[in-house]
Amino acid sequence: MTLSTQEMTAVRPVTCCSCSQQCGVLAHVEEGRITRISGDAAHPVSQGFICIKGRRAAELHYQDGRVHWPLKRTGRRGAGAWQRVAWDEALDDIATRLQTLKQQHGPESVAVTFGTFHGADWGLGERFLNLFGSPNSAGQDKICSGPTAMAEALTYGYGPTSHTSPIPGLTQCIVLWGMRPSASLPLLWKQIVKAHRQGATLIVIDPHYTTEAKRADLWLQLRPGTDAALALGWLSVLIEEELYDREFVEQYTTGFDALQQHVAAYPPQRAAELTWVPQELLVKAARLFARSRPGLINSGNGVCQLGPTSLQSARAIASLVAISGNLDREGGHCLTGPPRQVVANGDVMLMDRLPAEQWRKRLGRDRYRLLGDGYKRLDAALASAWYDKHHLLSWTASAHEPSLWQAITQGEPYPVKGLIVQHHNPLGGSGNARRVEQALRSANLELLVVHDLFLSPTAQLADYVLPACHWLEKPSFSTGLGYMGTAGDYAVAGWGALEPEQGHRSDYALWRDLGRRLGQEADWPETVEEFWDTCLRPAGLSFHTLARQRGPWRSAGPRYGKFVDRSDQDEGPRFGTPSGRVELRSAILAELDYPALPVYEEPAIFTRWSTDYPLVLTTGGRVIEGFHQNSQQMPWFRKKYPHPEVQLHPRAAAELGIEDGTWISIETPIGSVQHVARLNATLHPRVVQADRWWYPERSGHDPELYGLWETNINVCTDDDPAQCDPMMGTWLLRGLPCRLVKTEPATPPVLPQ
Ligand code: SF4
Repeated sequence: MTLSTQEMTAVRPVTCCSCSQQCGVLAHVEEGRITRISGDAAHPVSQGFICIKGRRAAELHYQDGRVHWPLKRTGRRGAGAWQRVAWDEALDDIATRLQTLKQQHGPESVAVTFGTFHGADWGLGERFLNLFGSPNSAGQDKICSGPTAMAEALTYGYGPTSHTSPIPGLTQCIVLWGMRPSASLPLLWKQIVKAHRQGATLIVIDPHYTTEAKRADLWLQLRPGTDAALALGWLSVLIEEELYDREFVEQYTTGFDALQQHVAAYPPQRAAELTWVPQELLVKAARLFARSRPGLINSGNGVCQLGPTSLQSARAIASLVAISGNLDREGGHCLTGPPRQVVANGDVMLMDRLPAEQWRKRLGRDRYRLLGDGYKRLDAALASAWYDKHHLLSWTASAHEPSLWQAITQGEPYPVKGLIVQHHNPLGGSGNARRVEQALRSANLELLVVHDLFLSPTAQLADYVLPACHWLEKPSFSTGLGYMGTAGDYAVAGWGALEPEQGHRSDYALWRDLGRRLGQEADWPETVEEFWDTCLRPAGLSFHTLARQRGPWRSAGPRYGKFVDRSDQDEGPRFGTPSGRVELRSAILAELDYPALPVYEEPAIFTRWSTDYPLVLTTGGRVIEGFHQNSQQMPWFRKKYPHPEVQLHPRAAAELGIEDGTWISIETPIGSVQHVARLNATLHPRVVQADRWWYPERSGHDPELYGLWETNINVCTDDDPAQCDPMMGTWLLRGLPCRLVKTEPATPPVLPQ
């Protein structure tokens, strides 16, 4: 859409995509430039709410250092030698090389990996790849919401429900499990505070004394990584003391007897020893949750980044939600189901166009069977309960990123030769940065393309860097209340605040223009608005009518207790599981020869490393001002957070001779980095918390790569496929052994101006 002169100065309602909550905001545009962003009081969901990331989003858009034109590498990888080229020249060359790789090595030799949410067209590379014939679309799902959604699907058929908003005045108990919505989901946090003020009990489970913990009625400071043990301990209390919902369990679940026997091995005393949570507190919290109905348990990436115990933890939590009688209950968790009329999820990605023999080549599916045969079983069960729709949770079974690095470097199980990275910096955000580097520098990788806002460390190794649009430069569309596909028949659309500036191109435009060069002309309409029209058509809507409406469309409001009355689901099974019941003992996991009941086992890495590395390291916490790796370029952010910090208890610091503000080295057997010590008396004396980091202001060329090797905590984490969760491949980012050593920074840091 081209804006008229009048529209160049306007207040434009847009959807904020600075995080996945997608609040309605107003972009104040004067002579084509955004001067201010404010909350949109007319938006029915966010109702005028805006956080600092939304308010200051335009600063990121206008920040120095944006990539404005396609760049082609002219020296060796990492040398920082670039030549500006025209888009057509870049795309012609990239398309030709992708076609050559396809002919020589098969379509599976081309992969895409993308980072976190950054706008409505996020993730469409999967559509491109399905049409191209490659199953290797990888993302961060294994460490971001994927384990929770997978666990819920195995247990009761559709999720995730793990970010449910409470109903103030009705919800009686809110458990925040490994989640900091005050920083990561502020709109949800606002609602939680409201519900707490109106009488709901707040229980927070977190190793850290967060904003949430400060407000909580009970704070359970567990040992990082032992969430499954804690959830099993709670289950044992609920079952032993008969605090569960007997009627629901008898009528709608299967496997309860097995679960009852199983959790007898995790009595409160044992759970307390494993988790470091005092036994009385553990029992008190479990009783309070069970007796305060309706209640809900919201869990976050604190659960999804536990490696081999992530899925187990999420399964145990899902079992708690179910047997406590809080599933699909008003004030508890609403099982919304997928969109029915609006086209979303797997249909958007054209999953069915990927030939079956190609799907079977998806990287990681043989080792992690929930990505392969398990996914097929899961998909069939979900479709049987939800309008015969398939691929509803395909995003949880994407290609396994650590296996992708292995395929590039070792050619196993087959070579991957071409990689497109979109809004993602795997060198900073993925586990074991040195292993990622090995793959990205490998001569085996014949083509590396990065599409992003800035020259990240990963972009510095690319053959082509293509300039991406900020979300303010593109229209918005969503079929989920903050999360794709989690809100039933729901859709909201809005025009962009600005036209794409300079040489920026949206994700949609990139895939369209590459696709059209590779025989996909019929599947990529000219504009993204026309593309979304095709998603909305079954509901009798169009993008522009929806955008004019300036608020969401939904076919019906939330309805609870759908497992009792299935009439509007065409009388399919009550739950989308093989048995049609809530599966406390999972039939799919049993078939795959995985533990059918949730278990807690200490990760092997912990047992192997802990003698020499006595502290427990957690990584990846969030702050309200930042969204993953998208804020370090901003001077205002860096005034508050100038350097990477590692928090530790004063007693641990005293033993090591460390003072607040000194530089210390964080070491694991994988690597070491340096952070500034920040003493925090609320931490457990054996626990430390480290930031992810790189310095955008430092030289991006070798050997510095923006100070990545000195500061990036993922230099110390491990993503060895053999150490990942055996079921779906999650790698361990929280709860791994480490040690601290006093040091000096390798290069004196200089702050951005
Ligand atoms: S909560 Fe997220 S979507 Fe809402 S204003 Fe903040 S950054 Fe934007």
